[in-house]
Amino acid sequence: MEKIIAASRNSHKIREMNAITKAMGITVISRDEAGVPPIEIVEDGQTFEENSYKKASVISRMTGCAAIADDSGLMVDCLDGAPGVYSARFAGEDCDDSRNNEKLLRMMEGVPYSKRTARFVSVITVVFADGSSVSSRGECRGHILTELHGENGFGYDPLFVPEGYDQTFAEISADEKNRISHRAKALAGLRDLLENREATHE
Ligand code: IMP
Repeated sequence: MEKIIAASRNSHKIREMNAITKAMGITVISRDEAGVPPIEIVEDGQTFEENSYKKASVISRMTGCAAIADDSGLMVDCLDGAPGVYSARFAGEDCDDSRNNEKLLRMMEGVPYSKRTARFVSVITVVFADGSSVSSRGECRGHILTELHGENGFGYDPLFVPEGYDQTFAEISADEKNRISHRAKALAGLRDLLENREATHE
């Protein structure tokens, strides 16, 4: 089983990644498990691609091993794509999920359901020990509700109803979310890239 070090500390994300990469024979281990010193990687890119590459390359260079990073967020159409790359700190540097959700609801007050469209985006990058990299983007479209529903998941999950569903990401099971989410789609794309890479290195 190949091991790749996750740049993220978010145990939800690592669990979601592992649920999907297991079938590829890859175990994603957390950077704490890998003994990486607790440095902070500043996410100062303007795009998910820039941030995801930065996080994976810093960890790969520090460890000399392959590293994987996901940069993700929510893009709301009526807010011109906000909170976007600022999703984690939408309500300020020391905010938490509930403050972010409150701020989003406040900014969308009065917006009718038909205009409450949004998408989750995930860009996953693997940087290998030799410095080469592959990157894959996945998106999941849906609507933002006017109040929180459900207890599962994290982040904006209780507000987001994926297209074709009548429950939020926080109400459906983890297995179901892992089948349709932005991260699942990015990981499926990554699996194809890794398989092609193996084929060309054989
Ligand atoms: P990152 O750690 O910089 O990628 O920040 C991503 C932020 O986007 C998280 O802190 C959440 O607020 C939000 N986010 C990303 N993916 C999800 C998801 O699957 N569900 C809910 N919120 C998410």
